[in-house]
Amino acid sequence: MEITSKDRAWYALALKVASESMCADMHGCVLVRKGTVIALATNRDTTHPASNIYLKDSLHAEQRAISKGVRTYQAKLYSARYHTNPQSAPCQMCDMMIADAGISRVIYHDGAKLVKVRVG
Ligand SMILES: [Zn+2]
Repeated sequence: MEITSKDRAWYALALKVASESMCADMHGCVLVRKGTVIALATNRDTTHPASNIYLKDSLHAEQRAISKGVRTYQAKLYSARYHTNPQSAPCQMCDMMIADAGISRVIYHDGAKLVKVRVG
């Protein structure tokens, strides 16, 4: 599936968002629907809300973007990683959330180039 100049622009925004992550491994996610940004998120380290104990796993940028309560049906999701290794494919758990949210396209970096895949 062809990467368009708009895809490159939205991915560049996801990369800028990733650069603002407070995590050691910096990820950013942008959701676009009908040509408009509907959600932005970085990944985030977490502590359990009740016990205040630091949890090993962070909330992923994709999870946080999808969880913002926006209408994700047929949106495009851009996943970026601010790192010398730009590989930013969503993990298996995020893949399931992406499919469940009705997102139609996912654009990420495979380590060598941008990739666009159809979801569902
Ligand atoms: Zn994930």
